Amino acid sequence: MRIGAPDQAPGGVAPDVTAFLDAPQMLIGGQSCAGEAGSFDVFNPADGSVLAQVPEASEADVDRAVRAAAAAMQGPWAAMSGAARTGLMLKLADLIEENGEELAQIETLENGKSIMMSRLIEVMSSAEYIRYMAGYATKIRGETLDVSIAIPPGTQYTAFTRKEPVGVVAAITPWNFPLNMAVWKIAPALAAGCTVVLKPAEETPLTSLRLVELIREAGFPDGVVNVVTGGGAVGAALVAHPGVNKVTFTGSTDTGIKIGTRAMQDVKPVTLELGGKAPMVMFDDMDLSLLGPATGIGIFLNTGQTCCAGARLFIQRGIYDEAVSTLKGIVSSLPIGPGMDPANQINPLVSAKHQAHVTAAIERGIADGATPLLDLTAPSDGYFVAPQLFEGAAPSCALMQEEVFGPVAAITPFDTEDEVIAMANDVRYGLGASLWSKDINRVMRLVPKVQAGTVWVNSHNIPDQNMPFGGFKQSGLGREHGSTALDNFLETKAVCVAYS
Ligand code: ADP
Repeated sequence: MRIGAPDQAPGGVAPDVTAFLDAPQMLIGGQSCAGEAGSFDVFNPADGSVLAQVPEASEADVDRAVRAAAAAMQGPWAAMSGAARTGLMLKLADLIEENGEELAQIETLENGKSIMMSRLIEVMSSAEYIRYMAGYATKIRGETLDVSIAIPPGTQYTAFTRKEPVGVVAAITPWNFPLNMAVWKIAPALAAGCTVVLKPAEETPLTSLRLVELIREAGFPDGVVNVVTGGGAVGAALVAHPGVNKVTFTGSTDTGIKIGTRAMQDVKPVTLELGGKAPMVMFDDMDLSLLGPATGIGIFLNTGQTCCAGARLFIQRGIYDEAVSTLKGIVSSLPIGPGMDPANQINPLVSAKHQAHVTAAIERGIADGATPLLDLTAPSDGYFVAPQLFEGAAPSCALMQEEVFGPVAAITPFDTEDEVIAMANDVRYGLGASLWSKDINRVMRLVPKVQAGTVWVNSHNIPDQNMPFGGFKQSGLGREHGSTALDNFLETKAVCVAYS
């Protein structure tokens, strides 16, 4: 069912969703299958009920998936032109839209997020991302190179480079944007001509399992995209598999370090998109009417479960009191409730474990001396945490240094540009940041000083397929999106031709 289809039951779960949740399967070598290690429960964060039982892959399942992907690198997929790959990818994007409402509902049911977010980001922007990347399949190109060396004397050379698919890709994804993250990895890999074994997060594997059904329906050859489900051990087995040629990961910095370290033992190339602790720097001359989007999108999008969430607000002294009072009003008015009701902007967190983590971070902030500004209540069913803003957090405390990944932000006043840039950069992360000011001279002066992979100006947390995305410092390695995403999945081969 398409998003907004006229026969859509308002607020109800589509019958196709219920049928899919009954028996979700992995896909290995074009065959749907159960997991050799049994199954595990996936929960509905809105009420804590069991939503579905999902296959648990064994090491042997991981091995079969990698072998299937390696075999597909030798099969019809390898012989396919870039234009043929484009065609398949465009078909997939259409299928995602045709099944958009179903995918959106599955996402909201497993992750807890707003159905509006699921429709707009998980579904619509994923379809657009695939279309964008599909275009690159016909634009892969090398260079011709002049060569100066002339040995033996009289011999001449011309060299050129070929860009070749790196091979089997292990794609390991997190739970915050499950379908979107799977697509960010699969789409450029397919455009490059690679094959993929996807390992989605154990909290949210369902949209990835539905996605690979659509990949099969689109007509991709067997084994081009495979999915194995399970916990970190399944991901670790995949990273360590000798048949994997490239690892791409989005998740926490600690897990990223483990994955990068293991991949490097085999000298496998790795792309890592990791944690963040983004600063939002608001100057006296900012347009205060932007505090609405700054709050709703910049801080609380996806209930704060975004790696670029503006977790640290620095507000210049001249507007501090007014801005803090406005922010408190905005946050207090955000409706809290289950994601299936589109009116709710603060939704349950993904899991009981994460709810406990965010609650502990709030309690630790108070214990460390920060002052909570809000006294909001959240529903007691499900994995809700009420939003919180803090003042007075010491720069070195956990609230200012560690990723909370929930509806929590710490506010700090500042006086000068130098002072705020030092505070903004004083973390191990460097993913996103924003500057809020009407003064273009100030903005352009400060952009080079901010240590972050993306600096937004008068906006925050707006990614785009055409903008490179990734982190400075411990926020990651490499960039996704744009042509860089394609390069992540291509090897460069120099070909040197001698003639006389
Ligand atoms: P979180 O701590 O927020 O749950 P992680 O960064 O640990 O998030 O998880 C992101 C993804 O990485 C998930 O798919 C998870 O199963 C996977 N994962 C966790 N540990 C490992 C590991 N050691 N090797 C490979 N993948 C892992």
